[in-house]
Amino acid sequence: MADIIQLLPDHVANQIAAGEVVQRPASVVKELLENAIDAQSDAITLIIKDAGKTLIQVIDNGIGMSETDARLSFERHATSKIKTAEDLFQLNTKGFRGEALASIAAIAHAELKTKKENAELGVAITIEGSEVKSQEVVVTPKGTSIAVKNLFYNIPARRNFLKSDAVELRHIIDEFHRVALIHYGINFKLIHNGSELFNLPESNQRQRIVNIFGGKTNEKLVPINEDTEVLKLSGFVGKPQFAKKTRSEQFFFVNNRFIKSAYLNHAVNSAFEGLMKDGYHPSYFLNLQVDPKTIDINIHPTKTEIKFDDEHTLYAIMRSAIKHSLGQFNISPVLDFNRDHNLDTPYSYQEKHASTPTVEVDRSYNPFKADVDVASKSRGFHSKTKGAKSWESLYVGLKDDSESTDKINIENEQQVQSLFSESSDISQNQSTFQLQNKYIVSTIKSGLLIIDQYRAHQRILYENLLKSITISEAVSQQLLFPLQLQFSKQELIILKDLKSDLECTGFVFKTFTEDSVEVTGVPMHVSESEVSIVLEQLVSDVEHQIPDHSFSVTDLVAKSLAKSLAIRRGQKLTHEEQDHLINRLFACKEPSVSPTNKATFVMMDASELDKKFI
Ligand code: ADP
Ligand code: MG
Repeated sequence: MADIIQLLPDHVANQIAAGEVVQRPASVVKELLENAIDAQSDAITLIIKDAGKTLIQVIDNGIGMSETDARLSFERHATSKIKTAEDLFQLNTKGFRGEALASIAAIAHAELKTKKENAELGVAITIEGSEVKSQEVVVTPKGTSIAVKNLFYNIPARRNFLKSDAVELRHIIDEFHRVALIHYGINFKLIHNGSELFNLPESNQRQRIVNIFGGKTNEKLVPINEDTEVLKLSGFVGKPQFAKKTRSEQFFFVNNRFIKSAYLNHAVNSAFEGLMKDGYHPSYFLNLQVDPKTIDINIHPTKTEIKFDDEHTLYAIMRSAIKHSLGQFNISPVLDFNRDHNLDTPYSYQEKHASTPTVEVDRSYNPFKADVDVASKSRGFHSKTKGAKSWESLYVGLKDDSESTDKINIENEQQVQSLFSESSDISQNQSTFQLQNKYIVSTIKSGLLIIDQYRAHQRILYENLLKSITISEAVSQQLLFPLQLQFSKQELIILKDLKSDLECTGFVFKTFTEDSVEVTGVPMHVSESEVSIVLEQLVSDVEHQIPDHSFSVTDLVAKSLAKSLAIRRGQKLTHEEQDHLINRLFACKEPSVSPTNKATFVMMDASELDKKFI
């Protein structure tokens, strides 16, 4: 039988390699930015069109390439970064596989222009699906520009698989952040469809973080510095009271390379133990410098996972360094490691000003510093525990909206009546009571109705909000003094996208600046002190949701606002308020579930009770 094995032609091999290296436009962005950094550039511009589907271009002012190198750079396993296998153990560059450009050129139209500093002229090469189409001598500035057009033009299945522009752009911005956050000595620009999203001047790391995530980030950051033989740790963690519900501000860099590590993440979380409320994640921007010999970055083609020789030691050093810094900055209540945790004030007692039974000597205590209170604040994340006053304002939406109670549709009205008709005369003025300030219990014809007040109110607000957004008619309360709220650029992009939906709920946004927005009006049931929390929650919900692209923004806005504004469990309600809540709930289209599809009430039949008494 004839031999059947043959070597794959280069362009096929390249396409296969591309499958690993290039998953989406953001992967190209990562590779091109890394090449520009390896080329010692100090100014790098990233230009994107249509979230990278039409164009991804990186222009740098680095060392450039000679004509031969330029041609070779598109060959597979062609790299200037390693020569021998030993070099793999002392990597100082981002790249080393020599695969990126070959892979990219196999699945897109690529245009390279490059010139070395001392060369008179540069070279321009165009390449399509691994085939060189042209090569000529050109006048071009020092450095390299690579434009990648029509990504996946020859792999329709991959192209169709790409998500919406919003999602792909989000991925690109994530990659851009990962690179820019650690290379703060380089000026980075990001331009999307002609508008400049980021222009980050050369700066220190703190300033870079602030330039990316917004001015309000500055006060959140606690510096971390630890120098040991095996690990140099530097960077910042976020103060616990600013923790987020998403993991969007968590960055590890190992030898200046962004990496993911569940194990090290655990080390950070454990340093925050006792300071974090469930479901919240600390922010961190941590740089680990280790001997390149002690890590293996070769285990993943995109190099975001690496193997450490001695993970346990790194874990221990990180944990204690972070704990120490949190303590020094007077944030951690656990400076005394032998303290009995049973004596700690529980979160919910925060407002009660109980005196702390332990005596702590804190050398860095400074009564004139604004920060002094953070230790106590950090124990109560929702320190916005609603007092009676703000509760009233929340209730406005329930009480005053008598008009919409009139609009109960007939079907529902009948339902409600049939539920309550018999019981109403039994206990005219006390047909409901509250259980543990969480549930509203009401007697109904067939037995008992138990309502979860938080979910029920969410349902009511959700339907109301949806209605006002869809019919674009909402009552807004004008603020006497407009609020200037700070957000990061990325958050502002999201807010701008949501602007028209939000304005239908009653928000009025005046001017958007680089890192803030002026709010001049808010919906009826939002109190002024809550505005920033509500909007931050909303932005974070949207950020969180984007990856699963099948969401409707309007629905998300309504859900998020309903969640933020609904009365909480633990809130005491008067009888009148309880009745209102029940009436409003059963006037809803779908009273039985919360906006996130969880039961709002349960019924207990008298016959079930009967059984218990047998
Ligand atoms: P790797 O980065 O793993 O070496 P790439 O395919 O990304 O592989 O790049 C191949 C080679 O092309 C690099 O080793 C480098 O010599 C050269 N190169 C790529 N991009 C640039 C750039 N922006 N400036 C200078 N040289 C570059
Ligand atoms: Mg590379």
